[in-house]
Amino acid sequence: MVERPLTLMAVHAHPDDEATGTGGVLARYAAEGIRTVLVTCTDGACGDGPGGVKPGEPGHDPAAVAAMRRQELQESCDVLKVSHLEMLDYGDSGMMGWAANDAPGSFWRTPVEEGAARLAELLHRYRPDVVVTYDENGFYGHPDHIQANRITMAALELSGMTPKVYWTTAPRSMMQRFGEAMREFGADWEEPDPVEEAEVMPEIGLPDEEITTWVDITEFGSQKFDALAAHASQGENIFFLRMGKERFTELMGVETFVRVRDTTDAAVPETDLFAGLR
Ligand SMILES: [Zn+2]
Repeated sequence: MVERPLTLMAVHAHPDDEATGTGGVLARYAAEGIRTVLVTCTDGACGDGPGGVKPGEPGHDPAAVAAMRRQELQESCDVLKVSHLEMLDYGDSGMMGWAANDAPGSFWRTPVEEGAARLAELLHRYRPDVVVTYDENGFYGHPDHIQANRITMAALELSGMTPKVYWTTAPRSMMQRFGEAMREFGADWEEPDPVEEAEVMPEIGLPDEEITTWVDITEFGSQKFDALAAHASQGENIFFLRMGKERFTELMGVETFVRVRDTTDAAVPETDLFAGLR
């Protein structure tokens, strides 16, 4: 038998999602000698352009945005010491309801089987012990995040060999602190009306007791911050960067997951994605 390194694979939708959602675990497990593979499904062309130009505004050049974000992604991977970056290069589908949803080559209109077949090839190549992606709602309803969940779950079904699979999540107890920080650091944040919210928005995050996995990444907060700083062209990241490293690490120092597949029987709640595997 060939000795394989323990391997973590994170499947994300856009350049920068790796930093916000899993920057801490990517950095932490790389530091522990675990091989880390990042799969980024889209080119991020619906993101902000240089100088903060928004998609649809004059001067927003999707190809230039994709090229810029490709560089930012590489820089983020360097900071997080990601071992392998794999890009599927589907077109960014934009937010739900945008015309980009149905543009040729968009990730959202790509048949799930097609994306899953490509991802299954990567599963065969790297044989990850742990795979991390979004929940079925893509955490907050973005079509590319939903599609990343769909192709990942379908690819795992095809390959059938990953012992532990996780969806990223946030504890409800943290959402409140998050809202406070949003106000303090001047982001465009309006307190969501709980009633209205429940009607139009799927619920974000999970009650604390439903979270299976809490990984302390405090020691890697600085790397996570720097990875996000590599994506400073994207307006929504500026709010985090305004906090400074210390407050950022306080707020973002634990990454949480829900374990959706497991063959190890490691007891939950657990504090390590690789519990039961080493
Ligand atoms: Zn995203």
